[in-house]
Amino acid sequence: MNEMVDTKDFASTILLLTELGRTLANSERASFWYWDKAKKQYWTLVALDSPRIVVPEGSGIVGASISGNETILINNPYEDPRFNPEVDRETGYQTRSILCIPVTNSRGEVIGAYQAINKMDDKGYWYFDDRDERRLAMAAVFCGKTLESQILYSESQLDQLTGLKNRRGYYEYYEKNILPYLLRKSCSIVMGDIDFFKRVNDTYGHNAGDVVLKYIASILRNAAGEMGEVIRWGGEEFVILLKDCAVSQASVFAENIRKKIETSICYFEDVPIRVTMSFGVKALDPHLTPEENVKKVDEKLYEAKSTGRNRVAYDEI
Ligand code: GH3
Ligand code: MG
Ligand code: MG
Repeated sequence: MNEMVDTKDFASTILLLTELGRTLANSERASFWYWDKAKKQYWTLVALDSPRIVVPEGSGIVGASISGNETILINNPYEDPRFNPEVDRETGYQTRSILCIPVTNSRGEVIGAYQAINKMDDKGYWYFDDRDERRLAMAAVFCGKTLESQILYSESQLDQLTGLKNRRGYYEYYEKNILPYLLRKSCSIVMGDIDFFKRVNDTYGHNAGDVVLKYIASILRNAAGEMGEVIRWGGEEFVILLKDCAVSQASVFAENIRKKIETSICYFEDVPIRVTMSFGVKALDPHLTPEENVKKVDEKLYEAKSTGRNRVAYDEI
């Protein structure tokens, strides 16, 4: 989940929703605070390219609204003990009114809060009232639903065991991040399959097999780093898409991973498990579909398997 909230799409949705809240409540400022439960923080965005503002869980009016799952309306902040006037003192801003509404998902769990500051009207500043509360509450419902569907959509692209992209994620990544480059730059595809993986399950049990899959996934992810995207294609098969990378470079990359796996040991409850992996490498062909490109690299992988396993097969140029 934390990975996906880093994406640009997610950030732009949050900004749009923030603006919606500001308009509906007719306030000078508004912020949507996302609750990152894993990190015990709330964060918000003021603009797409600016860094997030992050505050510890439980702090301020937002913290009170989120932890109590309650709407907070304050029209005299400087007299309210829940308000911390320190920021205003530092920035010179004057907070006159605050309306903070928790945002929940469809299970009723709080996922963040909307905070509107300084109600405006034709005469200037004014106070928030019940009507603003109802309007911001409506925006909060919309915000909850939008974020939830975005989170569910992102999750549907991820493999639960390894956290890597799944097959669905492959197609989306290919479309968005590979296709635009493919006519101008060479990109490669690597497909790897753990050798005799069935034996791992048969010898050490299915849970051990799962640990090996996670271990291999992390080796692949670390190796790919910024260079490429790793996908769990299915079972013990992985695909790596390498942007701006010729086959010669991609085959060296695959050979390095192969060696790394061959020489390292995975532990399951202190039991050492060694595995090897076979790889196929192929240049992505811009004239083929994403499926056809996988089929091509699968043929190379088959070559590596049928010529002895624990090796990398690619076309010599
Ligand atoms: P080869 O070298 O030819 O690839 O042999 P292999 O044993 O690796 O290939 P095979 O296709 O015969 O077996 C793959 C095994 O992977 C069978 C299946 O039970 C196991 N497997 C697939 N998905 C998972 C999973 O999520 N967890 C575990 N533990 N095992 C899995
Ligand atoms: Mg296998
Ligand atoms: Mg297989």
